[in-house]
Amino acid sequence: MRIGSMVKFYTLCLLKEGPKHGYDLLTQLKVKLDSGISTSQVYPFLASLEKHGYIAVKRTGQRGKKVYRLTAEGQLFVNGFLQRFGDLVHLALEPKLRSCTHCGCKLLEGGVQERMGGRKLTFCCHHCAGSFRKMHH
Ligand SMILES: [Zn+2]
Repeated sequence: MRIGSMVKFYTLCLLKEGPKHGYDLLTQLKVKLDSGISTSQVYPFLASLEKHGYIAVKRTGQRGKKVYRLTAEGQLFVNGFLQRFGDLVHLALEPKLRSCTHCGCKLLEGGVQERMGGRKLTFCCHHCAGSFRKMHH
């Protein structure tokens, strides 16, 4: 099964949080996506998840409102999907990461820049910069 859109991505994330009414699901999707999304995308996706056995649908209350819940199989599916998504994000960020010259830890932003021996070096913190200076001067 392919995850083709942000709507589907967020639907899976929200279901992972816990069982949701269809209405709550839509409301929270609208908040997350910050735009008018149409139910035409969400309900077929939910039906497809149900067909694959990834979610269970229960009717509650007098008006028979539907509650969607991930099954154990669905949890595995979402975890696997999020894992792959995480790997992609990591791949996308990797070239932007700098390393601390002293301890080697990865820095996405911030850090400490110090000039030493005519070179501008990056450290995660002043402690690392100080230790590096002691070791090399
Ligand atoms: Zn460091």
